[in-house]
Amino acid sequence: MTLRHLLHCYLKTRQWFVVRNFRAASGNVTKVAAYELKKLPVTVYLSRSQLIIILFVLGAGGLLAGCGNDPGAEPEATMSVEKPDESAALPAVNDPIIHTLPTPAATLSPPPSPTPAPTMTGDPFMAATAAIVATQTAAANPPTPPINGSTPAPPLMNEPLPTPMGIYSWTLKVPILMYHYVSEPPPDSDIYRVDLSVAPESFRRQMAYLKDNGYTPVDFDELSTAIVAQTELPEKPILLTFDDGYLDSYETVYPILQAYGFKGTFFIITEFVDAGREGYMTWPMIEEMAQAGQRFESHSRTHPDLTTKSRDGHIREILGAQETLAAHVGYRPRYFCYPGGTYNEETIQMLRELDYWGAVTTENGSWHGFDDRFEWPRVRMRNTTTIEEFQRLIDLEGTISGKPPNS
Ligand SMILES: [Zn+2]
Repeated sequence: MTLRHLLHCYLKTRQWFVVRNFRAASGNVTKVAAYELKKLPVTVYLSRSQLIIILFVLGAGGLLAGCGNDPGAEPEATMSVEKPDESAALPAVNDPIIHTLPTPAATLSPPPSPTPAPTMTGDPFMAATAAIVATQTAAANPPTPPINGSTPAPPLMNEPLPTPMGIYSWTLKVPILMYHYVSEPPPDSDIYRVDLSVAPESFRRQMAYLKDNGYTPVDFDELSTAIVAQTELPEKPILLTFDDGYLDSYETVYPILQAYGFKGTFFIITEFVDAGREGYMTWPMIEEMAQAGQRFESHSRTHPDLTTKSRDGHIREILGAQETLAAHVGYRPRYFCYPGGTYNEETIQMLRELDYWGAVTTENGSWHGFDDRFEWPRVRMRNTTTIEEFQRLIDLEGTISGKPPNS
């Protein structure tokens, strides 16, 4: 049993606790989870030996049954089936424990600092797991110089998204490009696989176009703080997203982004990586890219149709992916990409409760604001997208830093 395997077992056991405790309590899921987890001895361990002891204790309690890679072994079937109290899902407005994402109208004081404190001490779990991963990967992956000579963004833990002061939030035009495969599709591919595949040479030409024409790829944190706190974006901001975590993200996309000093955002299906699924990136690849300044966000655990999922299923898919990714990349992912573009009101409610700051769809569009932050549209990159079409799709139409020309 490797340390990495132990970490995965620990994460899944922890997620089981979160689901169980949430079902048992009423109120805000994040606070309940945080409170319950503080009671767990595992949140205070500091060393590998302590982790091993704790996992041994948990294992003795029969809680490690769901640690295999077979989704069928997940503890869903053992969950209580009673319908959760509807009032528990939506906490009362005056509940003192509610501290995240107040509505803009309710905020009369100036917005908090757009830069959350770069501390990891708020969450012992995060500090401990990140330290373990860092120790594990340091030997295998010597530190790679960060892109653009800057250090990667500080870890963002439990701080809420700064809230805009009513009308003073921006709606910005920042195209979020949506890529899937950047490779030649195999000869027997169906039309969907072909449509989702951009040829490496086309991708290289598109990145060169961005560089030659003054575009600067930004990440979702930069977009969020620009929207709510009016921080400045580069003159021609754009976001590059890559869905599903395919192997070509590491083999093809990453070297090209590095060559141009660009930052991409990769949406990962964590269970596929845990299972070592063929054709997908591995954790060491993802950790190497994260250390070099590339960004990783959540695309669920198993890529299900979330509209078919219960509340427990939503917790497992959305919280599970968030925590697993956080343990590997060292910051808490705050953005979600809906698997297959499907979601419902319950999905969005879960994202709010778990302190996600935004989510992207597969709908087409380039304008993004605070109110629609859980339904940000993107610009689909296709196999057939020519460089002329690319140019037209990302045209910022006179905006400066994404702001409307008349602002
Ligand atoms: Zn996907």
